[in-house]
Amino acid sequence: MNYPLSPKNQLDPNSVALVGIPCDENSSFMRGPADAPKCIRELLHSGSSNTCAEDGTDVGSSSRFVDVGNLSIYNSANCIPQIESGITQLLNQDVRVLSLGGDHAVTYPIVKAHARKYGNLNILHLDAHPDLYQEFEGNPFSHACPFARIMEEKLAIRLVQIGIRTLNAHQKAQAERFGVEIHQAKDWPPSDPSLESVLHFDGPVYLSLDMDVLDPAFAPGVSHHEPGGLSSREVLRIIQAVKAPIVGADIVELNPKRDPLGITGMAAVKFLKEIASQMLKDG
Ligand code: MN
Ligand code: MN
Repeated sequence: MNYPLSPKNQLDPNSVALVGIPCDENSSFMRGPADAPKCIRELLHSGSSNTCAEDGTDVGSSSRFVDVGNLSIYNSANCIPQIESGITQLLNQDVRVLSLGGDHAVTYPIVKAHARKYGNLNILHLDAHPDLYQEFEGNPFSHACPFARIMEEKLAIRLVQIGIRTLNAHQKAQAERFGVEIHQAKDWPPSDPSLESVLHFDGPVYLSLDMDVLDPAFAPGVSHHEPGGLSSREVLRIIQAVKAPIVGADIVELNPKRDPLGITGMAAVKFLKEIASQMLKDG
């Protein structure tokens, strides 16, 4: 893996670009995810594990997997338009982008950039929370709101959420308004329809992975501990079961302040390798 690439360098088309987005200004409860890109890279390169995905793809040795460093954010109080423009610049080079958040607020501008390139985007969203609030504590760009912004701007043709376990009346109404397909953690894994049919998509998929989809026993390093979540294996099974092309993805909400042993960070590294392998497949 080349690391980091000068932003001046032109990327080869069909590369998968790993980019860090060090932003957590829109977090409602606790700061910290801005330090996640640095933490995930350190663990990826620590020698603790190898860089192979479970299908045997060594993403670390692929010349098409390129770490482009962090997006430059000049005014952190106004990060949303800067993220959209930074991701657009990468997408204009015909690469696929794997973003490391940051809190979940980064997903709205990232998806906005992708929707301009892909008119028929499906979103697969793994999270304890639906993140569908119309606004949260007065902030429409809060990390509790990105999927309300995405759906009201019709940036996706389909939104499938898995792992949800905090569905309140407001967000349930929002989900109905936007036609969101919610698979709550209490009903996971599904028996009818099957996991394969839930994860069947027509057209390109954007994968948004909030680390708190995992049970806090597997991933204590997140701002919002929500018991009753998925296991690491269940999340891996979901990633590996997607057959449609994954054209973009993010891994968000790792909070290194709550992850002194790096357990959650290594889970993020594991997911990074699996997602990168999927994204490299259809290049
Ligand atoms: Mn989230
Ligand atoms: Mn969450």
